[in-house]
Amino acid sequence: MALIECPSCSKRISSKASVCQYCGSQLSGDTQVLSTISHIKRSNQLVNQGLLSMTIFIAGVVMWFWGGNTAEGVRAYIAVICFVLGFVGYLVTRLQIVMHKRKKV
Ligand SMILES: [Zn+2]
Repeated sequence: MALIECPSCSKRISSKASVCQYCGSQLSGDTQVLSTISHIKRSNQLVNQGLLSMTIFIAGVVMWFWGGNTAEGVRAYIAVICFVLGFVGYLVTRLQIVMHKRKKV
C-alpha cells in the first residue's frame, strides 16, 4: 500500500482508498497515477540525497589530499567528518533506495 496526496486537500491518504478520509472527496482511477508520481518523486529525492552524500565524501577526500600534504589539525578533523558523513549518508541512501524499490506502486 502506498501513500498518495489527496488531489483536493493534499493530505496523505492510501492509494487504495476510493474516498478521501479527510475531506471526503471522491477519488477516481487517477489515484494509481498519483501514486506512481509520488513514487517517482521519492526516487528522485533519494537519488539527489545519494549525490549529496557522494559530494560530501569527495569534498572530504579533496580536503584530505589538498596541496599534496597529509591533512593536519582542523583540516584533518573536517576531512574525517566529511568522509564519515558522506560514507554513512551514501550507505543509508542505498538502503533506502533498495527498500523503496521493493515497495509496490
Ligand atoms: Zn482530501
